[in-house]
Amino acid sequence: MRTWAEIDLDNLAYNIKKIKELSHDRDIMAIIKADAYGMGAVTIAKELSEQGVKIFGVSSLEEGIELRNFGIKEEILILAGTFNEELEIAEKYNLQVTLTDISQIEYILEKNMSLYVHIKVDTGMGRVGFTVDEAKKAIGMCQDKGIEVRGIYSHLSVADESDKESIEYTRKQLERFEEFQNIKNIKYIHILNSGGILNFSEITQSNLVRAGIIMYGVYGEGIIKELKRVFTLKSRILFLKELEEDIDISYGRVGKGYKGDLIATVTVGYADGFRRELSNKGTVDILGKPCEIVGKICMDMLMVRIPDEIREKVKVGDEVIVMGEDVFEKSKIIGSSIYELFTGLSRRVSRVYLKNGKPHVVNNLIGKV
Ligand SMILES: *Cc1c(COP(=O)(O)O)cnc(C)c1O
Repeated sequence: MRTWAEIDLDNLAYNIKKIKELSHDRDIMAIIKADAYGMGAVTIAKELSEQGVKIFGVSSLEEGIELRNFGIKEEILILAGTFNEELEIAEKYNLQVTLTDISQIEYILEKNMSLYVHIKVDTGMGRVGFTVDEAKKAIGMCQDKGIEVRGIYSHLSVADESDKESIEYTRKQLERFEEFQNIKNIKYIHILNSGGILNFSEITQSNLVRAGIIMYGVYGEGIIKELKRVFTLKSRILFLKELEEDIDISYGRVGKGYKGDLIATVTVGYADGFRRELSNKGTVDILGKPCEIVGKICMDMLMVRIPDEIREKVKVGDEVIVMGEDVFEKSKIIGSSIYELFTGLSRRVSRVYLKNGKPHVVNNLIGKV
């Protein structure tokens, strides 16, 4: 293997139990959109269903169908809205849908569909959803006409930020949502995402949380100490050279190698999802030591300078920790988020699942390895 994401299912199982505690024992909807944030939706869903998760959230119709095709029987909600023509297919696959507009309700009635729906309220995200008053009307309309409203929900935009203004904004969103806390005949009332679970569980009326990135032991502001890390991106040393003279390294000649340096070439690049903004800035770990990335990250490889402490020990084939504990710092360097680093992992990166400590390797190009 050249480059792989190591995904520790034992730690995931540990985390899901802890998240239940952190959520004050509410039920958990596991959000496994975008291929479970790059971790592999089907494998993650199977593990979580063994751990007792009863409902999953995905973004699109196709993501829901993928889970059904691979035997996932639990409830599944499509979060990111649905076009009218997708509703019939959602019905066929027993997928629950998010409604954001009265015309969708009219369409469901006109076609006489039998669908579980969740009404989405916009309490301040500014993306999709009914206003609070419209949502009440929509719920009334569904319930009068026999459409099962399975859930009412909203989404928080800054629950993972700890400055005063953000906290106030989240409190406002939660307050608006309180209108629905005593609503009748709706199974799920949900608003808390990862940041919400960590920071607002206590003050919120709802009976289900939507756990996404928190399942991997991290969230918007970094590592969560009560949880275990699930994800590590690893690669290997392909080539080593001791420089006989000063040379420029990689495309664009922005990397500088100096006479006597030991330079390693590692088999990970931006096409694996290791972002190019880390060129000449980031580090990777070899034998427990950070090694600076020298020059531009290429599509499939990058070069690092080997520090003196490990110079005598490194060899071709050695494992390289590309991203792990430092995923938050790396997300800051690229001016983005852990979410983007996770979901950017590409198809050719093998996923190595650890279960009871034993590895099980899946490569999206060739299947089981
Ligand atoms: C992605 C998403 C979540 C999960 O967000 P995290 O921050 O990863 O917990 C929850 N709810 C909705 C509607 C989402 O789109």
